[in-house]
Amino acid sequence: MQQKTIISVSGLVKNYGEFNAVKGISFEVYEGEIFGLLGPNGAGKSTTLEIIETLREKTSGEIIVDGLDLDTSPNEIKKIIGVQLQTSGYYPGLNLTELIRLFAGLYNEKVNPMALLDAVNLRDKARAKFKELSGGQKQRFSIATTLINKPKIIFLDEPTTGLDPQARRNLWDLIKDIRSNGTTVIITTHYMDEAEILCDRVAIIDSGKIIALASPDKLIDELVESGFEKPKEVKQANLEDVFIHLTGKQLREE
Ligand code: ADP
Ligand code: MG
Repeated sequence: MQQKTIISVSGLVKNYGEFNAVKGISFEVYEGEIFGLLGPNGAGKSTTLEIIETLREKTSGEIIVDGLDLDTSPNEIKKIIGVQLQTSGYYPGLNLTELIRLFAGLYNEKVNPMALLDAVNLRDKARAKFKELSGGQKQRFSIATTLINKPKIIFLDEPTTGLDPQARRNLWDLIKDIRSNGTTVIITTHYMDEAEILCDRVAIIDSGKIIALASPDKLIDELVESGFEKPKEVKQANLEDVFIHLTGKQLREE
């Protein structure tokens, strides 16, 4: 199948003073995929995302987003991407509906707040304030705010960190829904089970360099073919299976 490239990064370098945080990385993201950026803390994932999001200056390299050059068309790029805003921007006195109206105003977009809250299963919380939400609800709301300008691409930086197993699975479903509506998703995560389930392809970054890039399946097959073996799992389930079996799949936050 011929894949259309929606983001192309070539030779991206980012220095913070003397420190070389991103060391000339190149990769492409295809339209309609969920692309994962994986790597240890400090690898350069957030730096890379924020540069593509036009929120951080690069040192050198070329970035093209949906045919637009980051150097010459940052404002056009901003219009077609959805970025999770810092939660500190969520004015404490406003409820979710009011926050969506506020953000829509910033984007100069007309939105139906209830439809957007429905999309992330937060209709019941329309009148709640952000700080009154559970961890999973906060993440869902934050993802809703990325959708306000009907973007072609959304960026999610560790959206499931700190969530309980049910909330994490609930977010996977939401992210898959967003992809099935045609939106390209770039996500970072430290959970490899999550990356395996969600991502069409992943890039593994270590110390500012991409050391692998392929589908999770392909990377696993390559490792196995190289002769890698691990002790056979003797049990048919793990502790997470026990947890989900005992506590159920439904969310508990409401
Ligand atoms: P990741 O998201 O993969 O954990 P980051 O992109 O946040 O990594 O950081 C990559 C490296 O750059 C880290 O060593 C981090 O300490 C450094 N770094 C990030 N932001 C800054 C900054 N504003 N000034 C100086 N160094 C930074
Ligand atoms: Mg980060």
